[in-house]
Amino acid sequence: MAIIGAGAAGLQLLYELTQAPAVDPLKILVIDSGDRSEKTWCFWQKNQPIYSHLIEKKWNHLAFVGADGTEIKSCVEPIHYHYISSEKFYSYFFSEYIPKNPGITVVVGLAKEVVREDENFSILLASGEAYLTKKVADSRFNQEDWQNSGGLYQHFYGKFIRTDTPMFDENKATLMDFSLMQKHEHFTCFHYILPFSKTHALVETTVFSTKKYELTYYQELWEEYWKTKLGAIPYTLEKEEMGSIPMSDYVFQLESDGILKIGTAAGQIKASTGYAFVRMHQDAKNIVSNSIRKRPGRFRFYDRLLLSIIKTDTKQFPEVMKRLFHSVPMPQILMFLDEKSTLIQEIQIFYRLPIPLFLTHLWKSFTRSK
Ligand SMILES: Cc1cc2nc3c(=O)[nH]c(=O)nc-3n(C[C@H](O)[C@H](O)[C@H](O)COP(=O)(O)OP(=O)(O)OC[C@H]3O[C@@H](n4cnc5c(N)ncnc54)[C@H](O)[C@@H]3O)c2cc1C
Repeated sequence: MAIIGAGAAGLQLLYELTQAPAVDPLKILVIDSGDRSEKTWCFWQKNQPIYSHLIEKKWNHLAFVGADGTEIKSCVEPIHYHYISSEKFYSYFFSEYIPKNPGITVVVGLAKEVVREDENFSILLASGEAYLTKKVADSRFNQEDWQNSGGLYQHFYGKFIRTDTPMFDENKATLMDFSLMQKHEHFTCFHYILPFSKTHALVETTVFSTKKYELTYYQELWEEYWKTKLGAIPYTLEKEEMGSIPMSDYVFQLESDGILKIGTAAGQIKASTGYAFVRMHQDAKNIVSNSIRKRPGRFRFYDRLLLSIIKTDTKQFPEVMKRLFHSVPMPQILMFLDEKSTLIQEIQIFYRLPIPLFLTHLWKSFTRSK
């Protein structure tokens, strides 16, 4: 088997494949271009979380801040919000896990093409090398195609900072803070804060938009948030994180001509939130156990409604989120976002949201699909 892309999806699949009982010793080829930009992967789980030995920080309190600056804070135990850095994740796999598994071969190279040859696949690299394999899991995602399709993106720009003055509550992660004035008609902006201690945190600017802006633009938003909302306290910059992910109700193919698609390329990023880490973990388990990979259709439908609001009723989105966090207990919201809620719970949630707005977008979605 060959895995193209040793990112979050590729390495989680590698892990599940090598953990599953096998009759014959497994031989897995991992091809990666080496372009691994740093990311923070956060997710929520109760009890024994996945990759518990890689979790660097967890929070038992979560907060939401509305456009008017009002904070809604809640203890979500027994759930915790967990943080794994891509640095630690990659280091574990490449320095520990892979060297201990003689059946895994890693090739650094850019996969250009996968060609079916009878029962096999030939993977052609930009260097001219070619590898023959019986099965392929491919995490290549064509950003350019996506960009040209007018789809929505979630853009991230964050800074890991240290301050001399204690200013963060280390037990509380702020998931969304909409309090920086939404100046723009065409995009939604919010910030999140992951405090590692009272003086050490990741503060991140997030923008939902169809357009990608210059880096300086996200940096300006970050500085504005820091100045107006966090008191412009002097800080030392440790490192930056940036990136973009697609947010779409597009039905990504899970398989194409016998090639398994995984990760972003298989639509594993939840369209309305951008969370993907646990979903990719579940998908890897499903692939290995030959289980159905599809998610219940109604969650696609909810995502579509929320995306429609984010895209065309941008100014309403912070208010929708405020109503949600104000009237639904946070553990219930997390279950809903994890797509583990029941239909009754979902009806109860939507009942508390601005119904006329959702009906408008329901109508829009209906007329669009006709
Ligand atoms: C800044 C940021 C923060 C995020 N935070 C969270 C979070 O907190 N929680 C969460 O659940 N999700 C988060 N996400 C979303 C999602 O989990 C990540 O984007 C995740 O890394 C996607 O996994 P992936 O395997 O599809 O892609 P990646 O992790 O990007 O991996 C793709 C891999 O494929 C390789 N590759 C690409 N093209 C080729 C090629 N042609 N040949 C060979 N190799 C190739 C690359 O080098 C890379 O290693 C975040 C995303 C970003 C950008």
